[in-house]
Amino acid sequence: MRLVILDRDGVINRDSAEFVKSRDEWRPLPGSIEAIAALSKAGFTVAVASNQSGLARGLFDRNALRAMHRKLRRLVAAQGGRVDRIVVCPHGPDDGCSCRKPRPGLLHRLARHYDVTLYGVPAVGDSLRDLEAAASAGATPVLVRTGNGRKTEAALPDSFRDVAVYDSLEAVARALVRS
Ligand SMILES: [Mg+2]
Ligand SMILES: [Zn+2]
Repeated sequence: MRLVILDRDGVINRDSAEFVKSRDEWRPLPGSIEAIAALSKAGFTVAVASNQSGLARGLFDRNALRAMHRKLRRLVAAQGGRVDRIVVCPHGPDDGCSCRKPRPGLLHRLARHYDVTLYGVPAVGDSLRDLEAAASAGATPVLVRTGNGRKTEAALPDSFRDVAVYDSLEAVARALVRS
């Protein structure tokens, strides 16, 4: 199988400093839905790994999160694609969990689910913690310039100097489909 792991906010949908709290606030970035569909059609299994500390902060509940993800899945399905699996860290920054990125727990969970190693698996994110989680899970970090991406790119630590950077998920998908 060819697995690709995506961060959610700032990669698939618009991020917000006030958190994305509802189905209506969940708005796809231009081209992101089509990009996921293109990956599916090219044979990739698309999984999403997302920090959602808004749950721990009481900003929205599981039902609201489910509604956002139904919207995502429905939009992708309408383009002939599929989001195969979504894993979420519901904890806050001070909860000491092992799943909140930059920790690798969410990615490990996907590796166990699919019974694969993450070596060579692209893990696409817009924040440093996405790249760090990818690296510590043994996946291949990929940075997009949407969301926090430009800020992240401008402040990349030396250890990520050679990370692949793309303008958008659409550009990542185009490169992966060609590869
Ligand atoms: Mg993000
Ligand atoms: Zn967690």
